[in-house]
Amino acid sequence: MSEKCPKCGAEFSVSVIGGGGFCGACLEPINCPYCCETVREERTTGTFMEKLLKAPDSALSQYFGISDAEWEELGAELNANTGNDEMTYCYWFTVPDDTSEEILEKTGWQVGQIVDDIPVELVDNN
Ligand SMILES: [Zn+2]
Repeated sequence: MSEKCPKCGAEFSVSVIGGGGFCGACLEPINCPYCCETVREERTTGTFMEKLLKAPDSALSQYFGISDAEWEELGAELNANTGNDEMTYCYWFTVPDDTSEEILEKTGWQVGQIVDDIPVELVDNN
């Protein structure tokens, strides 16, 4: 059984170690093995063991609704949008000519379109 972390999108499985006791069950946290956030708590007499199945796609890919592999395939070059004070306000890129139909369909982009207003924190965290 696998579940998905609501915080980072990682997929992981949970198993119980040392469970099966009749009493003394207490609430134990189930933590995402990728971002270490507590996903939920459940009663058990054992402890939970989480195993990462699939690392999440980057925040940037998730923002666009595509996978990291598709973003790589896209090969788009991000440009910083800076103001007079050299601060980066957002990023933008032009959808390349050779973008696959699949990505265009998923994102609703058109070849040559400028995708603007990409939040700075999505890019800088990568
Ligand atoms: Zn997570």
